Amino acid sequence: LFARDITFLRGAVALDGLPDAGKPEIAFAGRSNVGKSSLINALCGRSTVARTSNTPGRTQELNFFDVNGRLVMVDMPGYGFASAPKDKVDAWTRLVKGYLKGRPTLRRCFLLVDSRHGLKDSDRDMMKLLDQAAVIYQVVLTKIDKLKASEVEAVRARTVDEISRHVAAHPVLILTSSEKGLGLADLRCEIVQLAEA
Ligand code: GDP
Repeated sequence: LFARDITFLRGAVALDGLPDAGKPEIAFAGRSNVGKSSLINALCGRSTVARTSNTPGRTQELNFFDVNGRLVMVDMPGYGFASAPKDKVDAWTRLVKGYLKGRPTLRRCFLLVDSRHGLKDSDRDMMKLLDQAAVIYQVVLTKIDKLKASEVEAVRARTVDEISRHVAAHPVLILTSSEKGLGLADLRCEIVQLAEA
């Protein structure tokens, strides 16, 4: 699925800019700097699909990509900057909430969480939005190369325990490192199944 064409469809800064829903869709969400761009690029085997950025609150945009004509992949704007101005946060919430609630083709949201930090309150807010929108989400721990195996296991167990209390959370976590290529096959496997379901 990811071996061939991945083309940028459009970036939406507001709800009226969303492309029509059609093919099955998957989305990637997470705090800014969680490693979302790196993971999307690693998943697609290219360095230029998603733009990496360390700039606080930069792209407040939903970016839509066509994957091989079979699936639409959505890069959601990062969240979690404490210093973000209120109007930016409000715009983010409007866009993300509206998208999640009005997207029947959205099969799953992959919620990226930095394995060094585990779930933070901004992730919990995101989980609440996903629960309310009844969008199934699956937590993906990122940057596991930065931790010892025992630390990875500890954060995994903690996270599994917490998400078990959420209705829309997929019970299985995916552990990844874009840097070392870990967990990418697991993630691809999930996505292929979602595209074919
Ligand atoms: P985004 O803001 O969520 O798109 O995050 P980026 O993909 O831009 O990554 C943020 C920072 O984390 C960058 O400095 C990356 O090099 C680093 N990073 C991303 N993925 C990994 C990983 O798997 N391992 C390590 N060690 N660093 C990573």
